[in-house]
Amino acid sequence: MRNSVVAIVGRPNVGKSTIFNRLVGERISIVEDIPGVTRDRIYAKAEWLNSTFRLIDTGGIEIGDEPLLIQMREQAEVAIREADVIIFLVNGREGITAADEEVAKILYKSNKPVVLAVNKVDNPDMREQIYEFYALGFGEPYPISGTHGLGLGDLLDSVVHLFPERENEIVDDDIIHFSLIGRPNVGKSSLVNALLNEERVIVSDIAGTTRDAIDTNFEKDEREFVIIDTAGMRKRGKIYETTEKYSILRALKAIERSDVVLTLIDAESGIIEQDKKIAGYAHDAGKAVVIVVNKWDTILQHDQAIKEFEEQVRAHFQFLDYAPIIYLSAKTKKRIHTLLPKVIQASENHTKRVETNVLNDVIMDALAINPAPSKHGKKLKVLYATQVAVKPPTFVVFVNDPELMHFSYERFLENQIREAFGFEGTPIKIYARKRS
Ligand code: GDP
Ligand code: GDP
Repeated sequence: MRNSVVAIVGRPNVGKSTIFNRLVGERISIVEDIPGVTRDRIYAKAEWLNSTFRLIDTGGIEIGDEPLLIQMREQAEVAIREADVIIFLVNGREGITAADEEVAKILYKSNKPVVLAVNKVDNPDMREQIYEFYALGFGEPYPISGTHGLGLGDLLDSVVHLFPERENEIVDDDIIHFSLIGRPNVGKSSLVNALLNEERVIVSDIAGTTRDAIDTNFEKDEREFVIIDTAGMRKRGKIYETTEKYSILRALKAIERSDVVLTLIDAESGIIEQDKKIAGYAHDAGKAVVIVVNKWDTILQHDQAIKEFEEQVRAHFQFLDYAPIIYLSAKTKKRIHTLLPKVIQASENHTKRVETNVLNDVIMDALAINPAPSKHGKKLKVLYATQVAVKPPTFVVFVNDPELMHFSYERFLENQIREAFGFEGTPIKIYARKRS
């Protein structure tokens, strides 16, 4: 099921980034007393009650040296296009400004639900200042304080109530959805074209152009796939669509809809920091991952070539140690046939369930090889384990005291599980829970 998307809009310095960090629950972007300070991340997962949603800080989408007014317009447009619900943020200490009215005008024209939040209401005495904001025409203003974390619960209650119903969405689990990510010029478009033009691939349907990607259904060896292509969406014309932040946003939304994410690396130009960052998104989202080293035709072919490259990839992408690596050329189509089998395998592992009794045999054997550690004279006791979810496979290990479960022991258990069940291509999650 797709997560609802919430966007925060408002003129600079009203506190968008501060609120974003609060709602996401960690300090992931830097807030300073400099207007328009650059943000590390503009898109993150947040939770409230039983809802998980995606939050966008539109203030992070900066468009070159465009004048402020254009920036604000474009940001509001992103919010309208992307979000299910918009949080319109204003500053309670300054009252309504011309720039607020400008943003309001754009938001009126959309059909999206808007919740008005008045920030910097740091103490109850200041609450009276919110009434003037009724004049913006978005109903009841919610007083909040980003720095003190006040009023956010009421605001979120109202946001969550406005989420669209999604009960009718049908997801066919037999179809493998996959997307390609990677920095510009790694060959994403070329690989999509090469795959879809392959002889034995039957393109059954261009399922549709969404706002972010072109989805194409195809069949190969009686399996159905949907390729989610964001690369082809580059030249749409809007200013913000060409910005890097926006293309990351688009990639993140494609990742979310995918079962398997192909992370592309350019063999010719090698691995750079940006590649790691992009690959990190797929890992964080808990998706199955296949690392694709493209432009393999440009590498001097010798016996050790793959081995040498593999060492580099493994050293740079340690967090993706479960992902298979394949080497191909979108241009010459060499080894392109090796791709879909890996996609299928990764997808099957991503949805694999293991039997509880077999799992527990593996865990007990693991305990025998490498007894659980102790801390402050207390010994970790592992009672039993069970798989609680797929996509990705998630295990709960019941123990006497979760505090005693050290990261390295968890890692050891993960390796034992992987060795026994072969979860190549998928991350797995392990949680320790108390059971005495
Ligand atoms: P943005 O440009 O809209 O993202 O605004 P920022 O999040 O960068 O915040 C701008 C300034 O307002 C920073 O100096 C923040 O510390 C400050 N600020 C944010 N929220 C509050 C608040 O609730 N109360 C007060 N007093 N200051 C705040
Ligand atoms: P994207 O920005 O990731 O979609 O990358 P493109 O598919 O537009 O490719 C960028 C450039 O790399 C183009 O000039 C392609 O012709 C070239 N390219 C793509 N795949 C290969 C390949 O396998 N080998 C070589 N030599 N060039 C490639």
